[in-house]
Amino acid sequence: MDVVRTLASLRQRRGAMVGPVGVVPTMGYLHAGHISLVERSRADCASTIVTLFVNPTQFGPNEDLSRYPRDFERDRELCAAAGVDLLWAPESDEMYPPGLATVVDVGGPAVRWEGEHRPGHFRGVATVVAKLFLQTRPDRAYFGEKDFQQLAILERMARDLDVPVKIARVPTVRERDGLAMSSRNAYLSEAERKAAPRLRAALLAGAKAGRGAEAAVRRALSGSGLRLQYASLVDADTLLAPTPRTRRRRLLAAAYLGRTRLIDNVPA
Ligand code: AMP
Repeated sequence: MDVVRTLASLRQRRGAMVGPVGVVPTMGYLHAGHISLVERSRADCASTIVTLFVNPTQFGPNEDLSRYPRDFERDRELCAAAGVDLLWAPESDEMYPPGLATVVDVGGPAVRWEGEHRPGHFRGVATVVAKLFLQTRPDRAYFGEKDFQQLAILERMARDLDVPVKIARVPTVRERDGLAMSSRNAYLSEAERKAAPRLRAALLAGAKAGRGAEAAVRRALSGSGLRLQYASLVDADTLLAPTPRTRRRRLLAAAYLGRTRLIDNVPA
């Protein structure tokens, strides 16, 4: 596996790669969820690129950029063992030239839910992913349903900007007790870790409740120690309220457990 840190060497290695090329964008501290994206890419594509970049522009001023978990050596080993061909791990100044003045701002599916609670977050995500697409020129890109709204936004962006990439939605990988795997789970205390699967359980209760989904999630979380920020039943494509034309629905939620913010979602 090649590890590249500069755009010049990325371009060189990418030019020599056998296609189709799959890309798996990540912020590192890899777990089995990330590896499932790599496995999907390896099944579909001749070459797989993993990108590892803790993107500062998608963190809000009061968020966890400086304490976001990092372990480059372990990530490198996991990627090599998973059969990744190229690990693209730029430093921040390689990614963002001085005087940067261009951003990608998605409306529509980015406006509500995470968009309301994390202002600027999706602008940071869409901009860095657009850059990663231009840098790695993938035929296919793999994203997890764990970040369901992000997935819908990136599909919208690729369509709107005519990016010639096919985006694959990969199902959420969970711990045995149902908790969605996440690099941020490392923040949870032992007691919090025990309570954390209640978010998924509440979403499943909500999904069963149909129209009363949001109230059912709230009820299921009462007394759990999780503080619900939102629970929303949405159209899985537009991320807006379902309409009679909605083909598939998704129930999304975000909740705080101590200082840690958890998100999850289920089909509904
Ligand atoms: P992150 O490193 O958290 O930015 O995530 C990188 C990619 O991995 C995103 O497409 C995520 O949606 C995906 N991902 C994160 N957690 C999981 C999971 N538990 N199952 C599947 N995909 C995941």
